[in-house]
Amino acid sequence: MPETTDREITVKDFKGHINPDWCPGCGDFGVLNVLQRSLAEMNIAPENVMIVSGIGCSSNLPGFINTYGMHTLHGRSLPIAQGFKLANHGMHVIACGGDGDGLGIGVGHLIHSMRRNVDMTYIIMDNSIYGLTTGQTSPTSGFNMKTKSTPFGNPELPVNPMALAISAGCSFVARGFSGNPKQLVEIYKAAIQHKGFAFIDTFSPCVTFNKVNTAQYYRENTYDIQEDGHDSSDMQAAFARAMEDGKIGTGIFYQKERPTYEEPEKETFDIPLVDQPLGVDENLAAELNAQFL
Ligand code: SF4
Repeated sequence: MPETTDREITVKDFKGHINPDWCPGCGDFGVLNVLQRSLAEMNIAPENVMIVSGIGCSSNLPGFINTYGMHTLHGRSLPIAQGFKLANHGMHVIACGGDGDGLGIGVGHLIHSMRRNVDMTYIIMDNSIYGLTTGQTSPTSGFNMKTKSTPFGNPELPVNPMALAISAGCSFVARGFSGNPKQLVEIYKAAIQHKGFAFIDTFSPCVTFNKVNTAQYYRENTYDIQEDGHDSSDMQAAFARAMEDGKIGTGIFYQKERPTYEEPEKETFDIPLVDQPLGVDENLAAELNAQFL
């Protein structure tokens, strides 16, 4: 459970000092707004949130929100985010990035993060294209989709993020759409509240380079699985929803709490690294700081 504060928090508290430079209409605006709303509605203070991203258009998000943040390397947000959480349990840690970042170069980290179950949130802003590099096929581009890098059609099957997450042992698996903020706020709040690794694949259309997976496409082709009676404690039912053809389900596919990675590490769980004595004298600490910082 993330730390909340007694003072009243509003969306304004999360307004960044720099305005986003995403293309007008980019789905990432919706994700940013929903994340700010979710944190504010949960009364989590900005100083208790760390957002870590990889590389890509969506990975610029930490620069546009007033929390601690780190813009790291392509596909490497998760190792850094997990390290941060293990060192400082009091913060709520959120990693974010695109489908190329998380399901392409970073997919190895993703699978192990899911089975490891560090208590944090991971948001993929999924636009089914490489936007920053101007429109190449990504891990979630559809079969036969024509892009700059596959002008005759994508010969590969797309990654199924929901099926991947459920099979990797993820304890919270959800999918949302940036154009449906009402549902997405509830999903993000549940993910942040969840004790363990929470994964949300969020459709976030690229208006500039993907003319297939548009906002209109998602409005017409998604449905709410909770409204359809889905039981998110049932793994088999979650798999069945993940493998559906036709309309695309959004909502919480699977959720089951289990011990987090950090709990059995008693030495750091009781006193996180950030609160432990350095174990070296002050002069040596100052020398090391001067050398490395
Ligand atoms: Fe968004 Fe696509 Fe523009 Fe990148 S290129 S900012 S993903 S619309």
